[in-house]
Amino acid sequence: MQKIAMDRISEFFSAIAAERALYLPLKKKGAVNFGKWEEGADVDLDALHTVKSPKGLFFPQSEDLVSFKMQGKEISIDAPDAPDEKFAVFGVRACDARGMDILDRVFLSDPVDTYYAARRENGIVVTLSCSAPEETCFCSVFGIDPARPGGDVSAWIAGGFLYVKALTEKGEALLSGLSLLEAADEAEIGPAVEQVKAVMEKLPLKDLDLTGIDGSATEKLFASEKWAELSRACLGCGTCTYVCPTCQCYDIRDFDTGKEIRRYRCWDSCMYSDFTRMAHGNPRKSQVERFRQRFMHKLVYFPANNDGMYSCVGCGRCVAKCPISMNIVKVAKALGAEAKE
Ligand code: SF4
Ligand code: SF4
Repeated sequence: MQKIAMDRISEFFSAIAAERALYLPLKKKGAVNFGKWEEGADVDLDALHTVKSPKGLFFPQSEDLVSFKMQGKEISIDAPDAPDEKFAVFGVRACDARGMDILDRVFLSDPVDTYYAARRENGIVVTLSCSAPEETCFCSVFGIDPARPGGDVSAWIAGGFLYVKALTEKGEALLSGLSLLEAADEAEIGPAVEQVKAVMEKLPLKDLDLTGIDGSATEKLFASEKWAELSRACLGCGTCTYVCPTCQCYDIRDFDTGKEIRRYRCWDSCMYSDFTRMAHGNPRKSQVERFRQRFMHKLVYFPANNDGMYSCVGCGRCVAKCPISMNIVKVAKALGAEAKE
């Protein structure tokens, strides 16, 4: 383990940014989101959650895939090179780091998504321990420890220092190039880790019970009459999917620029009425069907097909952001009761 005084953290960021792009939580117009670091940037390491998770650095909200040009009867195809920016992302919380594991299951399975794979290869994830988890957090329900956040390098802020520890070869390579770090004893972060544990014990959602929500009662849960009541007020706004670190649905569209046809992909939401619309129409015609799909996928289908891994990390963003205060916690409670009946 190594450390650097917090009053020298700009030097630390500058040293990383000298070798590769550095993304970290930045405050802009009152909102905190991951952005590219530059000298004088308004870095916010106190905000627990960025509005959007860091998944956009690996799976951008919108990206060009290929373009086509017509010249007479000739069609030329221009496919961009694989993303090659070398970068580090600093300040990823434990829940969002687990979110990357879930995205890996989707995008790195056969057939591999080469755009995502290139960014995973080129990116180094530096996580940051939470110091004060919020009431909406329930990461521990999924076995996540916010004080041991994982990634390629884990970082902690304690006693006026930033502590860092490499967990992978990529992480070691990053830290070995930073001569401004000094050696530290792991015991120095002990009080900070204990403080997080104490806060976690007091969180209201820490005892969310997922017993019975495991893929063994899929048909029963699918047919539950509770979906109608749960989804009644859903606006289909898609906010819950856009802020979620594990949602991975996207659409592919063609755009005529006047000079070429540009094919791009962009995030989409299973909560939208035109999601996966085909020539014959939308397979999920009502909001209750779309609502059920989102939560069945996260809590039932995904774990059933991924060794029990839920497609939720308990970050609490949807709990905080849904305009009608509907969220996965309320759904899990209702489904749990249904599974036990
Ligand atoms: S559950 Fe809430 S955030 Fe999600 S689509 Fe419905 S109203 Fe919007
Ligand atoms: S479903 Fe909600 S709590 Fe779970 S990971 Fe997504 S935004 Fe976070």
